[in-house]
Amino acid sequence: MIYDTIIIGNGPAGLSAAIFAARSNLKTIVIGEKLGGQASDAHLIENYPGFPSISGFELMKKFENHAKIQGVEIIYTRAQKFKKNDKKHTFTITTGDNEYETKTIILALGTTTRKLNISGETEYLGRGVSYCATCDGAFFRNKTIAVIGGGDVALSATLYLAELAKKIYLIHRRQDFRGEPIKLKKIKESKNIELVLDTVPTGITGEITVTGLKTKNLKTNQEQEIKLNGVFIEIGSTPTTVLAQELRIKLDEKGYINVDPAQHTNTPGIFAAGDITTNSNYFRQVITAAAEGSIAADSAFKFIKENSY
Ligand code: NAP
Repeated sequence: MIYDTIIIGNGPAGLSAAIFAARSNLKTIVIGEKLGGQASDAHLIENYPGFPSISGFELMKKFENHAKIQGVEIIYTRAQKFKKNDKKHTFTITTGDNEYETKTIILALGTTTRKLNISGETEYLGRGVSYCATCDGAFFRNKTIAVIGGGDVALSATLYLAELAKKIYLIHRRQDFRGEPIKLKKIKESKNIELVLDTVPTGITGEITVTGLKTKNLKTNQEQEIKLNGVFIEIGSTPTTVLAQELRIKLDEKGYINVDPAQHTNTPGIFAAGDITTNSNYFRQVITAAAEGSIAADSAFKFIKENSY
């Protein structure tokens, strides 16, 4: 069987692409490991129209359900290899033991959590170090913890954790935050959150579990060790482009897939959507990922029609 399009990634971009592709009668499957991608980890999403406040997981379940209603098959696994079949004008995607052939591909692979690369980070992973507040927050009820980062994800994580933990240090390397001002305002009003600014973490210490975080103030060079039980690292993410590199897809200098306004990559028949691309002015939201997914599906549909496959 030859599919019309195979979508790699089942976050907001991939699932939106699937809904639009299926509604254009394209024979579509989605291959992805984790439902909803990083959006599933969001404690609350409060800016997706129609849903004033919904958990990331719940919203992604709704996306998944919608795609299934349109007849899309979702395969929960990792796409491991790509091959271009030049003579047939198709691509082959390998997942473990299975191979899938398709006329077009939509890459919606999203991004991967960025690491601090400091001592103790790997050693204490799962024993006090976490990259996901909603997954691990409950382990830190009435404990003292730190959140590292100044973006939207760090601010959301801090607000979520403030409802559980006794005390939170929000550690950011600058004075200005990238995250939403409305969240920062709530943080400043909170009694159990202390801002530690112009400061970077330099090492995580512990015994069986985490017991402290070493920090350095970038203005004064003063070093200190904060006694605590957990460290949440929320310092952004980097594009997941190993598979794109395999297909020689053009990336920008930071590793995001270069796409035109119709989500075409430099390889005919391959499209990309969501956080992994250079589009939407790098404004990485569920709504922009969903929009890019819908455009990519429309472009795949037009590509198949124009090439009379
Ligand atoms: P981000 O906006 O890139 O922020 C990363 C933060 O971590 C920055 O404050 C950065 O500091 C800091 N940082 C990076 N590397 C560091 C290091 N080595 N040491 C210390 N600090 C470091 O990432 P994000 O918060 O994960 O958000 C990613 C995207 O998702 C954003 O575009 C965001 O708007 C979006 N998002 C959307 C929603 C939604 O749809 N509602 C929710 C959450 C996130 P500097 O500021 O100094 O660079």
